[in-house]
Amino acid sequence: MSLWLSGIGVSRGIVIARVQKMHAGELEIPEYKLAAGDIEGEIVRFYGAHRRAKEQLREVRAQIPEGTPGDIAAFIDTHILMMDDRSITDTTVAHIRNDRINAESALRRTRDGLIDVFEQMDDPYLRTRRDDVEHVCSRILRILLKSERHLPTQGGKAEPYVVVADDLTPADIILLSQQHVAAFITEYGGPLSHTAILARSLAIPAIVGLRDARRLLRENEQVIVEGEAGHVLASPDEQALAFYRGKQDAHARHRADLVKLKGRDTISRDGVHIRLLANIELPEDAAVARENGAEGVGLYRTEFLYMNRKELPSEEEQYEAYSRIVSAVRGPITIRTLDLGADKQVDSGRTHGPLPTNPALGLRAIRLCLKEPDLFRVQVRALLRASAHGRMQVMLPMISNLQEFRQACTLIETARAELRAEGKAMADDVPIGAMIEVPAAAIAAPILARHARFFSIGTNDLIQYTLAIDRVDDEVNYLYDPLHPAVLRLIHQTIEAGRKAGIPVAMCGEMAGDPRFTRLLLGLGLTDFSMHPASVLEVKQIVVNSDIAALRKAATALLDSDDPQEMRERIAQLEHL
Ligand code: PEP
Ligand code: MG
Repeated sequence: MSLWLSGIGVSRGIVIARVQKMHAGELEIPEYKLAAGDIEGEIVRFYGAHRRAKEQLREVRAQIPEGTPGDIAAFIDTHILMMDDRSITDTTVAHIRNDRINAESALRRTRDGLIDVFEQMDDPYLRTRRDDVEHVCSRILRILLKSERHLPTQGGKAEPYVVVADDLTPADIILLSQQHVAAFITEYGGPLSHTAILARSLAIPAIVGLRDARRLLRENEQVIVEGEAGHVLASPDEQALAFYRGKQDAHARHRADLVKLKGRDTISRDGVHIRLLANIELPEDAAVARENGAEGVGLYRTEFLYMNRKELPSEEEQYEAYSRIVSAVRGPITIRTLDLGADKQVDSGRTHGPLPTNPALGLRAIRLCLKEPDLFRVQVRALLRASAHGRMQVMLPMISNLQEFRQACTLIETARAELRAEGKAMADDVPIGAMIEVPAAAIAAPILARHARFFSIGTNDLIQYTLAIDRVDDEVNYLYDPLHPAVLRLIHQTIEAGRKAGIPVAMCGEMAGDPRFTRLLLGLGLTDFSMHPASVLEVKQIVVNSDIAALRKAATALLDSDDPQEMRERIAQLEHL
């Protein structure tokens, strides 16, 4: 009998193969007291295991085949670096010494303490870093306990297989990927874990968080893994097999078509050039953006430089980071000034009072920078200095009126004058633009367009503020509607205001990278789309198959529709243009 199971799909693709379970063997960690004379010997034993664990990771790193994207080795480097983190080594040694306990048990206390800290973090990305602590500590623990885990091996079998495990470390994934593993299913982990990110980078379909997978699936049982949806069908019948084989073929054809688009210009059927740009968060993402065929970067979110630290980043540190990224990006790059506050809280040495009741409507983004000009000044100086290294423009987030825009421009001009007096190199022209993410800015776009050199529509916030729904509140998520007539009208007005004033208008919210909306946005006149690098080829495929003149007529007529159902049907019909 077939059995359907559901987990969290983290890496797309459909696989039909047999199960190989990975038996981790739960770690039983004994605790015993040490005699005073045994303490130093125990510390030596801990460091021996620690050294061996690092060697193992270096061996894995050396096995990464040539030509593998650079970010894959970075996952292993993260673990190697974490092994040397003093919060692991020194704390464990202190437990051995002060609590007089064995190394395994001391390391377990260290691990549990660190995991507690990560679990209390609000940021979902940081919370998943607990997995890294867990992986690094278990590697050392297994050596101490002489209970090293063994990965399933091909054992001479030519067929690819689906690994089912409790959890997999990035190192496991790298080793398994060299053995024709077809897909991964794990019982733990989330979509932001390194394991999930790595599976996506290696294009191996994967499902995480499928509780009890090892109990529910039998060794060698045939399964269908649907990576995107997070579904597993165990022991499928002939009908299901035929259906999924058809889907597999269609998916393979689609992927092959997308890859062919890599070097091709993004020009519509009727000859309009559309710019597809990437949204990035770390300097290292610049290479990924290029690899995916982005023409440049339409949004570099700088707040990540300010996170996870006690001190604010200095001008020099920021200058280094921005210069590195400006030099690494081929094509133009739009850097956004600090967008802290609301859902992006950091400490970075800043003392907060109690959180405001409505943080999304409070002191965030440009408002915060104008209130704390010293914070802004350091970033602006670093940005202007980095402009000497490439084609850079600066974008101001959450502008809600012209005064804010002008005030920020004055601060930027003052910083420029200071730097000039200090003899620092800068580009002669660094265009300053406004993000349009507050309805007031969209409505006043014709006024702002007389002063800004470009616009970029941030639909994530524009939708939240237009529809009065907190974007991080699950209770009202169902109201989040990019196709709401009010949202579409604001987008259209902004694009029109830019066109009339002769300034470029981009979109950098999630909507720009969602292939369901590409035709509609082309029809509304959008020419610059900035998105997650992984979406670029998908959107490109739609653009090169579209007739933009025909889309324009149909899309603008659609704005008059006042019936949501009719509106959706008409949007669906754009598919044929
Ligand atoms: C947006 O609001 O659409 C945007 C791109 O900014 P962020 O998601 O960083 O707020
Ligand atoms: Mg925003």
